[in-house]
Amino acid sequence: MKTPEILDAYQWPPSNEVLAEKVGLSPAQILRFDGNVPAMPPVTARPATVAKALADVNEYDRSRYESLRAAIAEYHGVELGNVSIGAGSDEFIVLLAAMYATGGTVATVPSDSYSMYRYAAGMAGATMTDDVANADLVFVCRPNNPTGELPDIPTNVTGQLVIDEAYAQYAGVDETARINEGAIILRTFSKAFGLAGARVGYALAAEPTIAAITSRQAPLSVSALSAALAQAALSVSLDVSGQVAERDRVAAALSELGLTPLPSYTNFLFIPMENPQDIVDRLLPYGVMLRAYQAGLRISIRDEVDDDYMLDALRAELSGAPAPTPPLLFRRATAETYLNCRLRIPGQGRVFINTGEGFYDHMLQQLAFHGGMDLRMEGVGDLETGDHHLVEDTFRTFGEALDKVLGDRKGLARYGEARVPMDEALAVAVVDLSGRAKATLDIDPDPGMAAHALESLAQTARITLHVTAKGENAHHVAEAAFKAVGRAMNQALVRGTSVVQSTKGSL
Ligand code: PMP
Repeated sequence: MKTPEILDAYQWPPSNEVLAEKVGLSPAQILRFDGNVPAMPPVTARPATVAKALADVNEYDRSRYESLRAAIAEYHGVELGNVSIGAGSDEFIVLLAAMYATGGTVATVPSDSYSMYRYAAGMAGATMTDDVANADLVFVCRPNNPTGELPDIPTNVTGQLVIDEAYAQYAGVDETARINEGAIILRTFSKAFGLAGARVGYALAAEPTIAAITSRQAPLSVSALSAALAQAALSVSLDVSGQVAERDRVAAALSELGLTPLPSYTNFLFIPMENPQDIVDRLLPYGVMLRAYQAGLRISIRDEVDDDYMLDALRAELSGAPAPTPPLLFRRATAETYLNCRLRIPGQGRVFINTGEGFYDHMLQQLAFHGGMDLRMEGVGDLETGDHHLVEDTFRTFGEALDKVLGDRKGLARYGEARVPMDEALAVAVVDLSGRAKATLDIDPDPGMAAHALESLAQTARITLHVTAKGENAHHVAEAAFKAVGRAMNQALVRGTSVVQSTKGSL
C-alpha cells in the first residue's frame, strides 16, 4: 500500500493560544486583524436560534436545508433550483476545481488572489495559468482578497467562469444575473454575516449546473445548527455601512502614519510594502495580529475601539508614540444569557449597548459614557422570562470586565464623587475602586432593577458604591443615579498617580 502524497495545503495562521504564548499575553488579549471577519457575531446568533435544530439533532435534515435555500433564493431573486448549500464557499472552490479542471488549467482574476484557488487546483491535479481566455476554470475574486480591489469581469473566458463574491456586500455588487449566461456565483455567511465558525456558503448557478454540483457533494455537509444560524442571519436586513465608514476612517488614519492602503471594496485594507512580516512581528507583542503577504500587509477592519488600539500600536512602533492601553474582550455565556463585552479605559465615551433590554441598555450607556469609557456590549437573553437575568448579567459582565481592566489597581485616583440632577430628581454617587465589594444604595423610586444592577456591578467589579437618588419619576431617578456613578468613576479611574492611594500600601 502506498500513502498518498501530502499536498501543498491551506495554512491557517496560529491560534490565539499559540500567539499569546509566544509573546507572553493571555489568549483573550489577542485581537485578530487577520481573518476578514467582523469583531462580533450577529445579534441573531443566540441559543434560541438553534434550539429547534438542537431538539431535532438526532435526525437528518431530509429537506436538504430547503428553508435556508428558499431564503437565499428569495434574497437573490432566483429559484430554489439555482441554490446549493455547502460547508463554506471553500467546499465549492474545491469541488469546482475537481469538476471543471481535473488535469487541466485554472486561472484567477486578478492574478494575485485568494490562495485557496491554487490549493484546489492542486487537489484536482490542475495547473495554474495566466491565460484567462483559455483556462478550463477561471475564478474571479470580486472584490479581491487580499488586495480589496474590484476587478473587471473578463469577457474572453472560454472555460467555466466562477465569480467569488465572498465580500460582495461591502462593495454593493451582485452578479447573480450572470447565472443566466452560465456563470457560477459563490457566496458565504463567513464575512458580512459574521458566521465564519458556522461554515455555511452557497453557490448560485443555472439549474442543471446546480444539479451537477449537488450530485458531487456529500449528502448533508452543513450541520442543521449552522443552517439555522444562517437562516436567522438572513431574516434581518444586513447593514454594512458602519463597517464601510470605519474602513475609510482607518484608511485615512493609516495614510497619516505614512502608510498607503489601496482603495478597498471590502472589510480589509491592503498596504503594498516590502517586508510586511516585520510589522506583523512588531505588533504581535501588543496582541495585534495582522497578516503579511508577499506583496504587502493586510489589515482586517474590526470596530472603532479595536481599530484605534491597532492604530495606536502602529503609531507606537512607527513613530515612537507611547504604548497604548489595550481594550479588553470579554464573553459571558450562561444558560440564560450570552453577552459580548469590549471595554477600554480610558476611552472616548464611544458606547454601544444592545442586549435587547432597552431601558437598562440606556442606563449602562449613560454610566459608561459619563465614565469616559469605550464600551461595546452586545448579546441576548431570555427576555421571555422577564428582564431579571439579562439586566443582572449585563451589569455582572460589565463589572467582571471592569475588574479585569483595573488589574492590580495601582496608580488609580481611587475615589470619585458626583451629584447629578435630572429634572426633579437628584442623585449623589460616591465610589471607591479599592477592591472591596460593597453597595449602599437608596434609589427611590426604583424603576425595577436599578439598585440590583448597581449592586451586581459593585460585587463583580469589586468596588464600593454609595448612591442616593430621589425624585418623583422613577426613570429620572435611575438616569440621574447611573450618570452620577459614571461621573464619579470617571474621577476615580484617573491613572498616573505614582503612589498607591492607601495608607496600607496596597489596595
Ligand atoms: N473566498 C474568498 C475570496 C475568501 O476570502 C474566503 C475566506 N477567506 C472564502 C472564499 C472562503 O470562505 P468560507 O469557506 O468561510 O465560506
